[in-house]
Amino acid sequence: MHYRGSLDRIFEIREECGVFGVYGHPEAANLTYLGLYALQHRGQEGAGICSSNGHTMCIEKAMGLVSDVFNEERLKRLPGNAAIGHNRYSTAGGSMLKNVQPIMANCLLGSLSLAHNGNLTNAISLRKQLQQDGAIFQSNSDSEVILHLIAHAKGSSAQEKFIEVVQEIEGAYSLLILLEDQLVAIRDPFGVRPLCLGQFDGAYVVASETCAFDLIGATYIRDVEPGEMLVINDNGLHSVKAIDSYKRAHCVFEFIYFARPDSRIFGGLNVHRIRKELGKRLAINSHVDADVVIPVPDSGVPSTIGYAEQSGVPFDFGLVRNHYVGRTFIEPKSSIRHFGVKIKLNAIQNVTRGKRVVIVDDSIVRGTTSKKIVKMIRELGQAKEVHLRISSPCTIGPCFYGINTPTRSELIAATHQVEEIRKYLTADSLAYLSLEGLRSALPNPDDYCYACFNGDYPIGFPQEESPEL
Ligand code: AMP
Repeated sequence: MHYRGSLDRIFEIREECGVFGVYGHPEAANLTYLGLYALQHRGQEGAGICSSNGHTMCIEKAMGLVSDVFNEERLKRLPGNAAIGHNRYSTAGGSMLKNVQPIMANCLLGSLSLAHNGNLTNAISLRKQLQQDGAIFQSNSDSEVILHLIAHAKGSSAQEKFIEVVQEIEGAYSLLILLEDQLVAIRDPFGVRPLCLGQFDGAYVVASETCAFDLIGATYIRDVEPGEMLVINDNGLHSVKAIDSYKRAHCVFEFIYFARPDSRIFGGLNVHRIRKELGKRLAINSHVDADVVIPVPDSGVPSTIGYAEQSGVPFDFGLVRNHYVGRTFIEPKSSIRHFGVKIKLNAIQNVTRGKRVVIVDDSIVRGTTSKKIVKMIRELGQAKEVHLRISSPCTIGPCFYGINTPTRSELIAATHQVEEIRKYLTADSLAYLSLEGLRSALPNPDDYCYACFNGDYPIGFPQEESPEL
């Protein structure tokens, strides 16, 4: 994660990220490259890999997509049987190479590199404190705060130091740390972001999502548990309780939008299946007579299948996505965002002409995308009626734990009633999934964070920020 220096808008830039690590395989860097490739949806701004051959560490990173950043030659510069990698997403413009991870440093433990998914909620106060003690920062990333805390920790072993550090940091972290002779995976006590453990060809692999395991043919073993530290070295796998975990707060938005549908996360739950369930519950609670139901591709597809199955309304594809456009959703200038929708999506007239159309999307954030889509289906698609159904509750609060949402004032549902939103979107009807509907689709509903939907922040939020902004 990363933030700007000014205190008033410190968390203006929020990030989603993907991490992958492997220990004990001669093709460590190549496997990490493939893992990052499968996790590309978690971050498209920059990518990096750090490898170790037991005594020397090498790092390669750059801005851009995984396939742009790495080629055969660059991967050859990453020897060793252990590696970690990171995909970074941020909405900030300009070159931010210094914030691309993994970040590497030398300390008493030798060379060390780190890849982090999630947001720390006390990063700013920790950073100030470290700076007062003389620390110099290279980037404006909260992950660098973790690096400094490790360097300052008193413990005599790496494990002791890491345990000290997790007592100090607060917030969301799925963390991979590579030392010359070991790979360490740590997950925050709430288990906010996913982190999965797998095995491949005698080696251990760790990834944000299991879709990374599927690509390389690794077997999913289990999740890294909330509060757990996994140490992987030549002696095998060793599990240590790093911090007490009293309450889980898995990010429910991973299921709604963020994770890939073929992944199994949060205890092996298939994302596609949960999304379908959301669509079914949406159909039960928001019936409307219609001729066709169409998804906003891609994230709206599974819930639309569920909606169609439950309601009996025929499913079809009325919108086509250009797959060569990234997830350019929250962009700095609204002129670009407006433009972005047309670049990403187009209507298939034959599917919707003269029909009563239900469009299913996973979420409304600012409302910009939905407004364009409704207009597109009505005008270009020549639909008779356009009904919008959202497979999540109203998004009313920003995320401080690693999902890219704008401030509260920009969230349309935070400041408007559903009927006002419907009018703004020019839809014939609009309905969201209820919070109860969402909870009922999950096996252990109390184990999730719903802060963006109910304003209840289970880990609190940064002192410098407020969800009321
Ligand atoms: P908006 O125009 O701001 O209402 O954007 C809503 C669209 O953005 C929906 O189609 C969602 O699938 C998508 N979306 C929701 N959350 C995110 C996110 N954190 N990053 C990127 N896209 C998102």
